[in-house]
Amino acid sequence: MSPTSLPKFITINGYRFDSLSSDDLKILWSAVDKFKIDRVRFTPGSQIAVTGLADTQYAAFVSYLQPLLKPQPNNGISSILNCNDCGECKNGCIKTGELVDRLGSLNLPQPMPGRIKVAVSGCPRCCTMPRLRDIGFIPASATTQTWNVFFGGNGGRKPRIADQIGANLTLFESLDLVRRALTVYQREAEDRMRTADYLRSVVLENFLKKIEKDASIDSGQRI
Ligand code: SF4
Repeated sequence: MSPTSLPKFITINGYRFDSLSSDDLKILWSAVDKFKIDRVRFTPGSQIAVTGLADTQYAAFVSYLQPLLKPQPNNGISSILNCNDCGECKNGCIKTGELVDRLGSLNLPQPMPGRIKVAVSGCPRCCTMPRLRDIGFIPASATTQTWNVFFGGNGGRKPRIADQIGANLTLFESLDLVRRALTVYQREAEDRMRTADYLRSVVLENFLKKIEKDASIDSGQRI
């Protein structure tokens, strides 16, 4: 297939899919049939992209799929990549579904200076590459169901391995740490500065002190 004949995929923006039940699949198939879709692709960010959808039918297609769609976070987090959502991987030691849901509704200051990409892994094999994301979660222990939290990773043109900013934290401690870390970043980073560049400029030790100082501020969010 020549580059010019590659199918044009249209991504359904603003929504993500979790796992699909058999009833969900029936709805998806019905939509594929009704809107004459040629191909469906599930993206690494749990979105879907389709070919063959007429531009004029986009809104109707999204509306038809509404029962299957979960809104993407609108709190400044751009995307959340995760695995073992409901314990589907044989290697998984923590189900990630609750953490992902709570991340999506975390109350954060806005606008964020740059995109915030998050990855959550269900075991230390790290298939979702949490050390290369702005925020990463890796299980600290299968027995205690706790998390190690990472900040400032990037896999792009200026790659950076994220720094660990928390260890052996409960789900709620992890979320509170992320809230404080993003609050400091949002307050101090220059416009369009990603977390990796921010940490390069501020140095980890200083960043941790700023986060610690912010710990005295009650979030009031009861996370
Ligand atoms: S990180 Fe990989 S091996 Fe581990 S639970 Fe996720 S998909 Fe499975």
